[in-house]
Amino acid sequence: MLGDLASVMLDFLIVAFVLFQLVRLLSKLKLRHADANKGPDKKECPMCLEQVPAAAKRCKFCTSELQPAPEKPAQAPSAA
Ligand SMILES: [Zn+2]
Repeated sequence: MLGDLASVMLDFLIVAFVLFQLVRLLSKLKLRHADANKGPDKKECPMCLEQVPAAAKRCKFCTSELQPAPEKPAQAPSAA
C-alpha cells in the first residue's frame, strides 16, 4: 500500500515537472515572438541615423524633433 502511494506520488511529480517545463518553454517562445514583433517598430533618425522607436517625436540621441511615424495603412477589406 505504501509502495502504491509512493509510485503514484512519483508519477505525479514526473508529470508535474514535465508540464512545468512545457509551460516554461511555451512562455519563452511567446516572449521571443513578442520581441520579434516589437523589432520593426523602429525608424532611423534622419539627423544622427540612430534607431529610435517609430512613435517617437523626439530623438533620444540627438534630441532633434522627428516626424511622427506614418500610420500603417489599414488592411484593405478583401472583396467578398
Ligand atoms: Zn537623432
